Amino acid sequence: MTTPISENFPESIVRENIKRLTPYSTARDESNVGYGTYLDANENPYNTGYNRYPDPHHKILKRELALIKGVNEDMIFAGNGSDEAIDLVIRVFCEPGRDNILSISPTYGMYKVAASINDIEYREAPLKDDFSLDSQALLKLIDKNTKVIFLCSPNNPTGNLLDKETVLSVVKEFKGLVVVDEAYGDFSGDSGYIPLLKEYPNLVVLQTMSKSMGMAALRVGFAFGDSKVISYLNRVKYPYNLNRVSQEMAIRRIKEGSKTLAEIISERERVKLGLTELSEVLKVYDSSANFLLVKFKEASGMYNLLLNNGVIVRDRSKTNGCEGCLRISIGKPAENDRLLMLISNFGKETLAATENPFVEVTRITRETAITLKADFTGGGLSYLNTGIGFFDHMLDQISTHGGISLDVDVSGDLWVDVHHTVEDVAIVLGDALNRYFTSAGNYERYGFSLPMDESEATVLIDLGGRAGFSWKVDFRGEKIGEFPCEMFSHFFSTLASAGKFTLNVKAEGENDHHKAEAVFKAFARALKMALASGNSQSVPSSKGII
Ligand SMILES: *Cc1c(COP(=O)(O)O)cnc(C)c1O
Repeated sequence: MTTPISENFPESIVRENIKRLTPYSTARDESNVGYGTYLDANENPYNTGYNRYPDPHHKILKRELALIKGVNEDMIFAGNGSDEAIDLVIRVFCEPGRDNILSISPTYGMYKVAASINDIEYREAPLKDDFSLDSQALLKLIDKNTKVIFLCSPNNPTGNLLDKETVLSVVKEFKGLVVVDEAYGDFSGDSGYIPLLKEYPNLVVLQTMSKSMGMAALRVGFAFGDSKVISYLNRVKYPYNLNRVSQEMAIRRIKEGSKTLAEIISERERVKLGLTELSEVLKVYDSSANFLLVKFKEASGMYNLLLNNGVIVRDRSKTNGCEGCLRISIGKPAENDRLLMLISNFGKETLAATENPFVEVTRITRETAITLKADFTGGGLSYLNTGIGFFDHMLDQISTHGGISLDVDVSGDLWVDVHHTVEDVAIVLGDALNRYFTSAGNYERYGFSLPMDESEATVLIDLGGRAGFSWKVDFRGEKIGEFPCEMFSHFFSTLASAGKFTLNVKAEGENDHHKAEAVFKAFARALKMALASGNSQSVPSSKGII
């Protein structure tokens, strides 16, 4: 059986006022000229990079996405997060004060909120005990004013995929729109519902850049569906709903794909196994998403223990069907380790070892925005994102050879040059280092290193609390790749002055790249020695904003 939708779908279910709507037409829509002298939109004519309005139709973004998703461009709506699509679907199809929408319980909270805001009745069908979809219970809630059914698969907060045949049985029975929210689809390994759109015009799929693509701050989400359904969403959206930065960054990210998906999935399975072994844990539900729903003996006690140790999870223990459960997002390996360690320490008297080992520094200036998280007590895992590949590679030497977990995220003015980014990373890293060794107290103070590569470097460190710097390294060229060699001494002198320690660096060798790498390695080893002995357990509580 195919869907019972009427011949004039979707007009059959679109609100009357929306059918009559004349959408706002942007000035440039009315001309077909792709270039010219723009005196139509009251913009400022002087180039700031952002003085022109962004593309209201998101043409390049849709072209890229259409290729990857295997759909036509007119089947894509791009919104300010998929939350915008949720709201617009309700606004286009549901008459306030009269119509209703259906969903499942437990599920994502935004469907209900968006319904309330639009004065639309919200009805929910509980999932079965194993969180599978009860299509009979759902279909029973339908009446003549039901316009949209929201299903979430993999579901939030339960983590499971809904059975596809059961979902399709709902699509086939229902005359209105069925929206399947695939915010977590990439973590599931399932092909999802986009390949089925051509068959079912009353099906809409939501996806987002916020989860697997790691772009939550960008606010970009998509709805895929029948071109007529999508055209209504486009008519109702704000003309410039996606700003230019978001469009450009989204395009770049879509082309690159997610680099972290496989790691998050493997961490999910590792954390799941780890949790299963802990006595406080009653059940870890299977997850096809990037979080785990976990049932604890004492959910609220566990929630508080985690919170008191700076680990924030989602308390779902009061949600229907999730009694006693916390929803835990999968973090980076060191964060997941900390989570497991804290949970395994529940109820034990001494929690000394559970103090936050991370030194966190955030620094925002006109030129750069930097967040740095460092664990000087070990690890050596790094997540480096300075925007300068070579610099990331050098910082990785500090992390790997210094045994320092280093998480650095920078958005800097690289369109000018690398100067501010390199300098400001040095300031932030120096500051973090200083906070660590001044409050750890019990450190060695001196470090000395002389690694033997084909290039050799000697680095002396004195963490005596006084800044000093000497540099005896000659590079043969001006640049390594695109990276200016003068930035090396600038980086280390800034690091020493921000960290208030003394640093002497000497290096010799043939190849500039190797020499630079040897300096970073030697610095890392010298630092490791200086910080080595008697690492105090009392690491500073050092969340700070400069
Ligand atoms: C996180 C999430 C979204 C994402 O919304 P955005 O507005 O795109 O960030 C959508 N649906 C579900 C179920 C989610 O959990």
